[in-house]
Amino acid sequence: MEDRNNNNNEIYALIIGAGISGIVLARLLAEKNQKVLIIEKRNNIGGNCYDYIDKNGINIHKYGPHIFRTDNGKIWQFLSRFTAWHEYKHKVRAIIEGKEIPIPVNFTSIDTLFDTTKAKVFKEKLISKYGKNEKVPILELKKTDDKDLRELAAFIYEKVFYHYTLKQWDLKPEELAGDALARVPVYTSYYDGYFTEKYQAIPQNGYTKMFENILNHPNIKVQLNTDFKDLKNTKYKYLFYSGPIDEYFNYRLGALPYRSLNFEFKTLPQKQFQSVAVVNYTSKEPFTRITEFKHFFNQKIGQTTVAYEYPAAFELNKNERYYPIPKQENEQLYKKYLQLAEKEKNIYFIGRLGEYKYYSMQSAIAAIFELVKKIAT
Ligand SMILES: Cc1cc2nc3c(=O)[nH]c(=O)nc-3n(C[C@H](O)[C@H](O)[C@H](O)COP(=O)(O)OP(=O)(O)OC[C@H]3O[C@@H](n4cnc5c(N)ncnc54)[C@H](O)[C@@H]3O)c2cc1C
Repeated sequence: MEDRNNNNNEIYALIIGAGISGIVLARLLAEKNQKVLIIEKRNNIGGNCYDYIDKNGINIHKYGPHIFRTDNGKIWQFLSRFTAWHEYKHKVRAIIEGKEIPIPVNFTSIDTLFDTTKAKVFKEKLISKYGKNEKVPILELKKTDDKDLRELAAFIYEKVFYHYTLKQWDLKPEELAGDALARVPVYTSYYDGYFTEKYQAIPQNGYTKMFENILNHPNIKVQLNTDFKDLKNTKYKYLFYSGPIDEYFNYRLGALPYRSLNFEFKTLPQKQFQSVAVVNYTSKEPFTRITEFKHFFNQKIGQTTVAYEYPAAFELNKNERYYPIPKQENEQLYKKYLQLAEKEKNIYFIGRLGEYKYYSMQSAIAAIFELVKKIAT
């Protein structure tokens, strides 16, 4: 990295987008004594991790439930400089044939769904084939040569994954490229956590507060309500762009497809709506899941706020981009944009929109750590 001694007022880095990618990058550059301007077109920082406190004092995740998790000690220590944590083990349930079962499917799910004899056979065979405490991707289980396990796989596939995937993506599970389904395995144990990472938590005072603390540095200036395309006369040495890469190039090669979500928030005059924070609806209901936010901090108050989550096609200027759609043709289109990007000078495309990639928070941070290492040499 050149020009470390910033003794004039020129901005070293202009960062587009104050999501977790842009925010973490801003801090790392600021700590290398570089001046950073971060602009954000929304009225708030945080990108899709933005949260706020509603009128009942409940911490709401505006763009869907976000639980931080990582096995990476460096990422954990970095964020821990800016927040205390509320330890939280995420649990998800689904309603299958009127019965509530843990998700991912585990031995409790099998005991709940099948009679004792059948459940015993399934559990013993799972252990003998895959071992105890393992995660088996459903598509792998479907291919097994064992008749009983194939029956189990067919049941789970149909009742837990098929309709849910169809609703979520408007695609059949087999049409999804990459590891989209591997993220939802079957556990060969009674473990009923949704995640398995060592560190699982939510910032004690919310994500937005944690991000404010990360940005609180004399070398960082934040400008909200500012779209990159309206920015005039700003001089900078490097541009880091966490907006959509296709938008940057005016959709010259066509639009990259995304899946969107509509959230319907309801505040209800009751203490509790459901047993855990997230319940999946895996059948023909129009929504995929309901989140009850007060479970995150185990809040004991008279009201509760829930969000129904309805998947939808992404339409420009009508709704938000949520998930890049994992299909090979989309990946190829992205690569063509990347070729255009490589011809540009001093621009880096970052984050889920810049790299057209599903990033969890920890993987978004890991990518920024790598980028800073790369540009620092
Ligand atoms: C429903 C849902 C649930 C999730 N749950 C989890 C979870 O439990 N755990 C987890 O680890 N991860 C979760 N994630 C992933 C998490 O949201 C992402 O890792 C994170 O948002 C990536 O941050 P980012 O900065 O790359 O992108 P974003 O958060 O999208 O930030 C990009 C920012 O750039 C701004 N921007 C775009 N274009 C412009 C422009 N032209 N000018 C100015 N600003 C611009 C946008 O407004 C936005 O604020 C979830 C994602 C979704 C959709």
